[in-house]
Amino acid sequence: MIYSNFHTHSLYSDGKAEMKEYCNKAIELGFHSLGFSDHAPVKLDNSFSIPFEKLTEYFQEVKLMKETYQGKLNIFTSLEADFIPEVSYDFDFFRNQADMDYMIGSIHLVYNKTNERMWFIDGGDQQVWDKGLTEIFDGDIKKGVQCFYEQNMQMIEEQNPEVVGHLDKIKMHNKERLFSTNDKWYTDLVEACLTSMKKYDAILEVNTRGLYKGRCKELFPSPEIALMAQKMGIPILLSSDAHHPDELNGAYDSVIDTLKATGIKELVEYSHTGWKSNILV
Ligand SMILES: [Zn+2]
Ligand SMILES: [Zn+2]
Repeated sequence: MIYSNFHTHSLYSDGKAEMKEYCNKAIELGFHSLGFSDHAPVKLDNSFSIPFEKLTEYFQEVKLMKETYQGKLNIFTSLEADFIPEVSYDFDFFRNQADMDYMIGSIHLVYNKTNERMWFIDGGDQQVWDKGLTEIFDGDIKKGVQCFYEQNMQMIEEQNPEVVGHLDKIKMHNKERLFSTNDKWYTDLVEACLTSMKKYDAILEVNTRGLYKGRCKELFPSPEIALMAQKMGIPILLSSDAHHPDELNGAYDSVIDTLKATGIKELVEYSHTGWKSNILV
C-alpha cells in the first residue's frame, strides 16, 4: 500500500477544504507524507488557480502546516504549474519564491499558436471539450492532440518539472470516439514525450482522479504507458490529485493491483532526503 499523496488541492486553488483538514485526514489514513500542490497562478483570468496576490500566504500556510504537524506527518511544498507558451510564468519564478520541494508540470489548456487560442481539455464536461476542439482546432483532433504532446515536451525541456502530471489526460473526453490510443501516430507522440522525460529526469505521475470521479475508465496515463516508462527507466509516482480530503487515497487499492498486474515493479515517494523508490509487493 502507498501511504502518501503528493498531488493535492486546497481552498487556495480549486480544492474543497482547508489544508489542516487534509493533514488530519492523512493522519487518520495512516499516511506518512503529504504534499500540497495547488494550481500555480497563471497570467489569465480564471477560477482554478491560486490568485497571484495569495501566493505568499499559500507558502506561509504550508510552512505553518509543516510546523504544526511535525513528528506526525511529513509535509512538502509544491505547486501544480500550467505551462502555456507566452502565458504561464517560468517555473523558476515560483522556485525562487519559496523553498519548493518539487513541482508538478501539467497541461490543462492546449495552446494553438496559429490563432493564439487555448483548448481547455480538463473538467467534467465533454461538451466543453468538443466545443473547444471545434472552435480552436477546427475539429482537427490529430492537430489538437499533437499540440498537447508537443506542449508537454516543450514544458519538460524548458521548465524541467520534477513530475509530469496526468500525461495522457487529453484522452479523457475522447472516449474512443475521435481517435484510438492504439493509433501509431498517437503512440509515437507518447513515446517522444517519454523520451524527453527520460532525458530531463522527469518523474511520471500515475493519476487516479479520472477513475474515482467516474470521468474515465482508465488511469492518467494508461498502465501501458506506465509500463513503457518503466522500461525506459522513468520513475513512477502514484497520486490521486485530491480536491477533497476524502479523495486522498482515491482508488489507490485497486490501482496498485492494476499496476502490479501490468508489471509495474516500483513507485517513488518524496522524502526529506529526496525521491526514494519502493518495491511493490
Ligand atoms: Zn491537473
Ligand atoms: Zn491537480
